[in-house]
This record gives sequence, C-alpha cells and structure tokens, in this order.
Amino acid sequence: MADIPRALEHAGDALASAGHDAELAESKYWIAKCHYMAGEIDVAILLAAESCAAAVSVGEPALLARAQILEARCLESAGEVQAALDLVILALEVLEDYGRVDDEARTVEQSAVLALGVVYLHLDELELAMQNCLHATELARQLPDPSTYCAAQDTVACVLAAQAAQAREAGDRIGAERLEREAIARSQEAVEIARQVGHAGYETSALLNLAESLTLVGEAPEAMRLLRRWESRYAGALPRHSAHLQDSLGQIFLAMDRPDEAVLAFEQALEQCHSEPHRAVIMEHLSQALERCQRLQEALDHYRAFHRVHARMSTERARRSARVAALRVDIEKERARARKLASSNDELRRRAGVLERQANEDVLTRLPNRRRVEAFLEGEFGACSAALIDVDNFKQVNDRFSHAIGDAVLQQLAGLMRDNIRPGDLAGRIGGEEFVVLFKGGPNADPLAASERLRRAIAGFDWTSVAPGLVVTVSIGLARAGEAGTGPLLLEIADQRLYAAKRAGRNRVVG
Ligand code: GH3
Ligand code: MG
Ligand code: MG
Repeated sequence: MADIPRALEHAGDALASAGHDAELAESKYWIAKCHYMAGEIDVAILLAAESCAAAVSVGEPALLARAQILEARCLESAGEVQAALDLVILALEVLEDYGRVDDEARTVEQSAVLALGVVYLHLDELELAMQNCLHATELARQLPDPSTYCAAQDTVACVLAAQAAQAREAGDRIGAERLEREAIARSQEAVEIARQVGHAGYETSALLNLAESLTLVGEAPEAMRLLRRWESRYAGALPRHSAHLQDSLGQIFLAMDRPDEAVLAFEQALEQCHSEPHRAVIMEHLSQALERCQRLQEALDHYRAFHRVHARMSTERARRSARVAALRVDIEKERARARKLASSNDELRRRAGVLERQANEDVLTRLPNRRRVEAFLEGEFGACSAALIDVDNFKQVNDRFSHAIGDAVLQQLAGLMRDNIRPGDLAGRIGGEEFVVLFKGGPNADPLAASERLRRAIAGFDWTSVAPGLVVTVSIGLARAGEAGTGPLLLEIADQRLYAAKRAGRNRVVG
C-alpha cells in the first residue's frame, strides 16, 4: 500500500532543500499529488493550482501540463467537472505547443487523454469518454510502466459499466448484460496487472468496479467473495479504500436482499470516509438501506444529514472556486508577462536587424552602401580588385527625362551589377551615380574581363524599357589587388583610371 505520509515527508524535504525555482515547482507538484492521493482534495486543489503557477514562471511546459491534469482530477473529485474539462483541454494545448515526443511527454499526454475520458464520463458524454479512454489505453501500451495501462483498462471498464446502466434504463437488458460482461473482462485484466506490478491502489479500484459489475449481472456472491479476499489481504488499507470497499459491500448486500447487513456496511463506510462528496453518496445509500429495513425515522434523519452535507459542500465549493480563480488570475498574469517579454524580445531583435540593415544598405538600390563597402574592403583588402563605375552624362538623363527616370536607371543598374558578379564579390553604391564592384576572385580571376563584361551588359541593356529613347553607358576605372597598400589608396587609383576613361571618351574600362 502506498505510504503517503512518508511520500509527503520526502516531498516536503525536497521543497525545503530545493536549490532553484524548477525544483521548487516540482516539489510543490508532488506535495499536491500526495494530498490528492490521501483524499484531501481541498488542499490538493490549491497546491496543484500553485504548482501550475510555479511551472509557468519557470517555463516548464511538461510540468505545467502535469500540474493542470492533477488539478483537473482534484476538481473532478470535488464535483467541479466543467472546470476540470477546461483544465484538461488547456493541458493538451500546452503539450501540443511543447511538441516533444520523449517518454515524459508521452506519459503526460497519456494521462491527459485519460483524464479527458474520466471527465467526459462524469459529464455523461459516454461516447466521447469511450473514445478517449480507448485512446489512452493505446498510448499506455507504448509506455514502460504497466500500471498506466492497468489504470486505463479500469477506466474503460467504468465507461462500459455506465453504458450498461444506460442500456438497462432504456430497457435493453441483453445489451446491458453484454456491456457489463465486457466491463468485467476489462476489470479482471486490470486487477491482474495491478497485482503483478504490486499497485494496491489500482488493484483496489479495479476490484471494486469488478465487484459492482458482477453484482449487476447477478453474481453478487462472487463479488462478495472477491471483496472479502481483498479485505483479508489488505488489513492496513487506506481509509479511502476501506470506505469504498464497505460502500460496495453494502450495495452487494442490498442486491442480495440483505438490507440489515447493508446498513452495517454503509455505517462502517461512513465512519472511515472523510471526503465530503463521498460521505454524501454513502449517506444516501445508507438512507435507502434503512428504508428497506423499515427504519423510516432513521432513514429520514440520514436523508436530512445528506442534504446538510450537500449544502455545506456548495458553500465550500464556492469559497474554493474563488480561491482557485484568484490563483488563476495570477497564472494568467504570469502567462501574459511571459508572452509580453517574448514578444518585446522579438521586437527588439527585429528592430536591431532593421537598424543594422539600414546602417549598411543604400535605400534606393538596396545595394551595400559606402560604409559597408569600406568595411568589406578592409576585411578582404589583400585579395580584392576594385572597379569604380560612374554613369556617363547622368545629369542629362535627369534633365532630358526626369529625376524619377534617373532613379529608375540607378535601380536597374544595381540589378545588372548584382546579376553580373560572382557570389563572394560585392557591388555597392558609394555616391550619387557612382558604384563600385569589389572582385574577390582567385588566381584565375580576370577582373579586367569581368569589368568589360559588366560594361557591355550595361550598354547592351534595352534601356527603352525604362524610358523611350533612353541610352545608358558607364565608365569604369579598375585597380587590381596588390596595386596599393590600403583600401582607400586602391579606390584612389581606381578613381584616377575612371577619370582617364571619361577623358578617353566614356563607355569604356581603364585598368
Ligand atoms: P560624367 O559622364 O562626367 O560623369 O557626367 P555626369 O552628368 O554623370 O556627371 P555629373 O557629376 O555632372 O552629374 C551627376 C548627376 O547625378 C548630378 C545629380 O543630379 C545626379 N544624381 C546624383 N544622385 C542622384 C540620385 O540619387 N538620383 C538621380 N536621379 N540623380 C542623381
Ligand atoms: Mg559622378
Ligand atoms: Mg557621371
């Protein structure tokens, strides 16, 4: 039998010695889980919600999903099924965003799908419950821990039992019996596996479901035998399980028409049960049994007590909802803060990128600007030849056509340069109608031939596509790698040769 007080002690120690926030969040989760297992649902709900908040603030999606599923299970035990459903769906979304497929992620996904099945079962959405529980069974098969599969099978059995009850109510006795038999087979398998792996909690849960189904198909004595055997094996069972056992025994006695013994069993169950919602259910059963014994005054007293518990539970539930809602607001705030932080980081990165581009790029032609060209030349200086390119009689282009056509010519020239240089070379705009191409080349590169090719490409371009009657040529001055000791000197030599090209009649390369 799981030793919850000891587990709780361990989790408390872990919390006290947690070195960083992630460990703290993990310890909080385990403390919440211990309280859930011990049936202390109220405390567990608050702690689970707290561990959700902690998981968000340390950015641990797998832990967040786990804590959300735990909180959902607590809420569902407390009868807040809709809130539980919302949380399970949130957990599944968190897992989807997480996108990992390791054992941990698969385990959490399986428990989320199973939790969804359980929530649908409690909402009486039996088809959806069945789909999810079967899916959870499939997922469990791929996991290393066999008890996961056992819990999933047990839950499928519960859904089958609920479907059987529905069929019975609709008058379909044969259908009901078939479903109940299927539930029995699943429960038996679950009991078997739980016993093999030594998971007393799952064994008990599966066994009690098995007993209930057996009672419903008219095999109450067999159910009784199983429960008695369980009782003798687990003398030190947890109160939660003992109470559940006594409640099941009571129902079996009722089915066997032995209401006196049923009353005794229900009274024992009440003594051992400390969870309000379960007490309410047992009280109702006890009232029915007392009624069957003709002890009407006592039955009435218990019905009244049952209603008092109900009323108290609603008040308590409202108070708890308010506390959980307050915690949720904190979680939402954390999420919003994380989102804002992430998006402002993105925005800063984006703006830094834009600024960097603007600092190195010419706006009109999108070519690298003078600053970028100088930086490139400094880095690659030793291996670079520089071709300085100036548009011939550009002033006339502006004058004869327009400044806008002049701009279009500069843009087209930039395109022609980009298309006519090799990867690794760099074309830039360094002034009004002045460009430069830095040829990195290798030993076999011929910058003079490359410059001549570029000049011809420009002169041969159909400029009438930009404006009718337009002709554009360029003059180029080339300085080869190794001709100067610094980058600026290399450009200076190229500039002199450009001037020579202009004087020689333009539309030519001097190198
Ligand atoms: P040359 O063959 O001797 O180089 O004659 P040019 O007319 O090209 O030389 P000049 O330096 O006299 O004229 C350059 C012209 O380039 C003057 C200026 O209006 C024009 N210009 C400079 N920047 C831009 C620009 O961004 N857009 C436009 N449309 N024109 C520009
Ligand atoms: Mg010029
Ligand atoms: Mg010019």
